[in-house]
Amino acid sequence: MANQTERIIVSVPTGEELKEEAHLRPQTFNEYVGQEKVRKNLQVAIQAARQRKEALDHILLMGPPGMGKTTLAYIVAHEMNVSLKTTAGPVIERAGDLVALLTNLQELEILFIDEIHRLHPAIEEILYPAMEDYKIDIIVGQGPAARSFKINLPPFTLIGATTSAGSLTKPLRDRFLIRHTLDFYSVEDIFKIITRSARILNIALEKEGTEEIARRSRRTPRIANRLLRRVRDFAQVEGDGIITQDVAKRALEMLEIDPLGLDEIDRKLLLTIIEKFDGGPVGVNTLAAATSEEKSTLEDIYEPFLMQIGFLQRTPRGRIATPLAYKHLGFKPNQTQNQQTLFEK
Ligand code: ADP
Repeated sequence: MANQTERIIVSVPTGEELKEEAHLRPQTFNEYVGQEKVRKNLQVAIQAARQRKEALDHILLMGPPGMGKTTLAYIVAHEMNVSLKTTAGPVIERAGDLVALLTNLQELEILFIDEIHRLHPAIEEILYPAMEDYKIDIIVGQGPAARSFKINLPPFTLIGATTSAGSLTKPLRDRFLIRHTLDFYSVEDIFKIITRSARILNIALEKEGTEEIARRSRRTPRIANRLLRRVRDFAQVEGDGIITQDVAKRALEMLEIDPLGLDEIDRKLLLTIIEKFDGGPVGVNTLAAATSEEKSTLEDIYEPFLMQIGFLQRTPRGRIATPLAYKHLGFKPNQTQNQQTLFEK
């Protein structure tokens, strides 16, 4: 079961899920739920670029996985009426890979680089002149025989996505003139996303069942869609195929997703802070060891949500569990813990 819950929250979509995600992915701003501010800003930038017949400024999208960064990149391409090429930081192993991508771009086309913070520093440098002046410098050969060539690129737009804004180098970050962080969605918006997905996938869903899934989806569209699929399977096997509140509750309990959407790793993380360290502060490396998770998984996936719901505070001395976390896990906040929380505020 642990593996199952882990998969729901942290796994990277592959195979079947990628296909289904593409099927569920909104194609236009009208279908894209929530994130009003980002949407408005992008719509204005797109309209201005289209009027000037220029490439859109480079865009950096930040936020936890599954929040809609890739979806937005596709929508931007659609609204600009241009095509989009996609790649990801870890996939670009050699400078030549990036040069090939850049030199094959058509005028105004969009290059989407997911996990852009994971680009190798030497490869990242190729992007600087490419983004600034639509040029790349290539050095051929070594030592005294080395020669440098400049290649002109057509005007293009780079859209970078990152789950870890803090890991991005300043020179790269500064070259994105449009930068947006996607906020966690409201439960109402997640409700709308689930309703839309159920319509597309032809799933019978009652309002209370939808609410139950929405509350436990960590305010993240990808997780909402994953839970919807799991609950659909449960409804089919254990019920008459209709997702009622009772069916949703039982299915999610079986997956060990609690009423707030916390899974086993969240609970382990909070329990370590509360039981072993008297509420904190605890360093993230200690928490990574205690939960057997990568430090970056905790920092980029688990902690943002726990902070969002007010269960965790990040301080310079480490992580602290708040009185809300104590209460949720059935503990009484202790005196020192309360004082620490007040002090940090
Ligand atoms: P990210 O790139 O941030 O990891 P994606 O853009 O791949 O996330 O989103 C994951 C899935 O969640 C998409 O396939 C899409 O179906 C759904 N989704 C994301 N954002 C929205 C949204 N604002 N409205 C509706 N569905 C969304």
